[in-house]
Amino acid sequence: MITLKPQKLKVLFATSEAHPLIKTGGLADVAGALPIALQQLECDVRVILPAYGDILAKYPAITALTEIYLSGIPGKVTLYATHLGESNIEVLLVEHYSAFSRNGNPYLSQNGEAWPDNAERFALFNKIIRLVALDQAQLDWKPDIIHCNDWQTALVPALLKLVPDAPPCLFTIHNLAYQGLFPQNAFNSIGLPTELWSPYMLEFYGQLSFIKGGLVFADRINTVSPQYAKEIQTPEMGCGLEGLLKHRRNVLSGIVNGIDDTVWNPETDQLIEQRFTNKTFAQKKINKSALQRLYGLPDKADVFMLGFVGRLVEQKGVDLIIEFLKTIKNRPVQFCLLGSGDNTLQDMLKKLAEENPAQIGVNIGYDEAIAHQIEAGSDAFLMPSRFEPCGLNQLYSLRYGTIPIVHNVGGLADTVVNATDKTIADNTATGFVFGEPTVKAFNQAIIRAQNAYRNTPIWLKLVKTGMNADLSWRSSGQKYLKLYQEILEESYDRALIYRP
Ligand code: ADP
Repeated sequence: MITLKPQKLKVLFATSEAHPLIKTGGLADVAGALPIALQQLECDVRVILPAYGDILAKYPAITALTEIYLSGIPGKVTLYATHLGESNIEVLLVEHYSAFSRNGNPYLSQNGEAWPDNAERFALFNKIIRLVALDQAQLDWKPDIIHCNDWQTALVPALLKLVPDAPPCLFTIHNLAYQGLFPQNAFNSIGLPTELWSPYMLEFYGQLSFIKGGLVFADRINTVSPQYAKEIQTPEMGCGLEGLLKHRRNVLSGIVNGIDDTVWNPETDQLIEQRFTNKTFAQKKINKSALQRLYGLPDKADVFMLGFVGRLVEQKGVDLIIEFLKTIKNRPVQFCLLGSGDNTLQDMLKKLAEENPAQIGVNIGYDEAIAHQIEAGSDAFLMPSRFEPCGLNQLYSLRYGTIPIVHNVGGLADTVVNATDKTIADNTATGFVFGEPTVKAFNQAIIRAQNAYRNTPIWLKLVKTGMNADLSWRSSGQKYLKLYQEILEESYDRALIYRP
């Protein structure tokens, strides 16, 4: 008897960034880790990503696979192949001389403004993804499912809906605030089928909305935490798209991100001064001392060290941190920040550090190693975000025994258990959660945390629970796999119903 080996599920994972090739935020962390978790769950995954100049400079030995000519696009598009980090997952890199070969940030020019041709650049990327999805790119590989992420890949579900028998799509929202909005003339210049220009499709109050391609046309939509999936159906957090999301609520769900244990693991982390585990937690203080030296702060073991890493934008509640920093003079508190973003916020933070150099360290920039050192060296981590789809730093903090102090929103609410008498007693507490994004509530949460820090047995309970939590991509990967399987089953059912 011949037994047929079940075919691996073929997934095309479309993204505009993936760690370690290119990263501006959390999407890159997800795209660098979820495909690996899916491969371990027996999926055949390929990632597709623009070949930005910085990637080609960093990985010069990549292989050219094929050349593609698109009507209306001058020059050729070359598909290159490389791998995702140390894994053997193939990354298809889409190269085009004028769209992607420039150096720097994928989305912004040197002056911090969106590249003026972003609509054209990412429309080109989406058209190539469509060809790969339909096995029309000479790769001899037909994916079963297309997983699109954020606005930069959101036209794909719309383009595929126009093709009979196209594979189904999952669209993941990593941050609804970024929608890919462009003036109406961009719709014409990128040559989209005219029937897509409608408020029920890609039009959003007279503008072209890339993200609506995903929200209207994807077979399923998910976001990066169950709580954020609920929040985006409300006017407060729906960014004008709450009506559409509510309409599609039956196909909308949330899956919390995992963390990449090969990158964020205090036991093996080569970027920190002293590696440690739950059992050798006392050694964490060596990292605190190293962090104090790095930021030129007095080397004091018993001071309460707070950390922050992230984009300096309103979303992250940086204004609340600034107000808090004004109150710490002569309290046994130090603070280390790494981030970049809004110029006004940057200037305010630099000024505070100049005025109080013994307590406040500010580093404006982007630096992977320092991000790890802050996670390893801080006692607690501040995340007063106004909204937070999932958030990764609170997860890294849990892993590094650094207690998160977070606003009760989105993924922060889903992943941090507030310390109360009850949760401390039943060993579920992992951090400090505050209800309203106000200076008062935030300060109170920090005071609660500081009091707990002075009570070593309680603090160590929180540390232990956080460090032991299952934050792996494996469990999130299983949820994605289940979602893919549901999508496929639905699409088979549809095909059967519509077959003449
Ligand atoms: P978002 O995607 O909204 O920026 P997340 O918390 O989901 O926020 O992910 C941010 C990721 O980017 C984390 O891995 C964080 O450590 C990293 N990061 C943000 N800013 C910096 C920085 N200045 N230097 C190093 N890493 C940073």
